[in-house]
Amino acid sequence: MKTYCRQCLRKTNGASHVCPNCGADVVAELQDEEVRPIVQALHKRTNLYRERISTGLSFFIIGLTFVIIGLIFYRLSFKLDQSNVDEIVYNLAYASAEFVVSMIGLIGGGIATVFGAVWAIVWAFNKRSIVHDVEEIRQNKSLTVSRTPLIFEIWWKHISYFFRQSIWKMKRKKAAK
Ligand SMILES: [Zn+2]
Repeated sequence: MKTYCRQCLRKTNGASHVCPNCGADVVAELQDEEVRPIVQALHKRTNLYRERISTGLSFFIIGLTFVIIGLIFYRLSFKLDQSNVDEIVYNLAYASAEFVVSMIGLIGGGIATVFGAVWAIVWAFNKRSIVHDVEEIRQNKSLTVSRTPLIFEIWWKHISYFFRQSIWKMKRKKAAK
């Protein structure tokens, strides 16, 4: 359980205490008229998070493009060995411009891809968490919120529910015979 500070909207552990961020008293209970402005402030925050998710996805796509270009240039850095007249041999030419371009593409693109993916996932998680918290704040009129379930936990709940239903139906069919 975590509680939002109504002054700075930082989430901290436990209810009644002093906010370590701004020093305001943290009180979970909300009056009816206090709910709306806090929900609005939290909603505003999700807009910022949405922008960060877009930035992450942009880095991911651009990075991936550079990785593909890097792979193409890596393939182009193999040069035909002219001194070997007996057979056709391709050697990796480390000093060629193609190889330099391929390394820049693979390393730069790789870093951008990983950074973009992590950035997008982190902010998508934070955004989901705020949406979950807003729902609870509205329902309970309290700034204390439960942990946001991971997306996998929700999937698992649906899957296990489906199987329990199927088993229950099968049992009922057997009983009817
Ligand atoms: Zn605070």
